[in-house]
Amino acid sequence: MSEKTCPICGKPADAIHKPFCSRRCRLVDLNRWMTGAYAVPAVEEDDDENWETVHDGREEP
Ligand SMILES: [Zn+2]
Repeated sequence: MSEKTCPICGKPADAIHKPFCSRRCRLVDLNRWMTGAYAVPAVEEDDDENWETVHDGREEP
């Protein structure tokens, strides 16, 4: 009844590393999670800074 399988490789989960079968699969899952979180990077920040520097010197009241 409490037999779960590793979501990474499908092997029976280990009591210590559940729901994964091993530490390795646990890290794999963590890696996937982090990679997904990094899928939304702030790439425009660099451009924004550049734009502001240029813009700042040109407009004076
Ligand atoms: Zn596994």
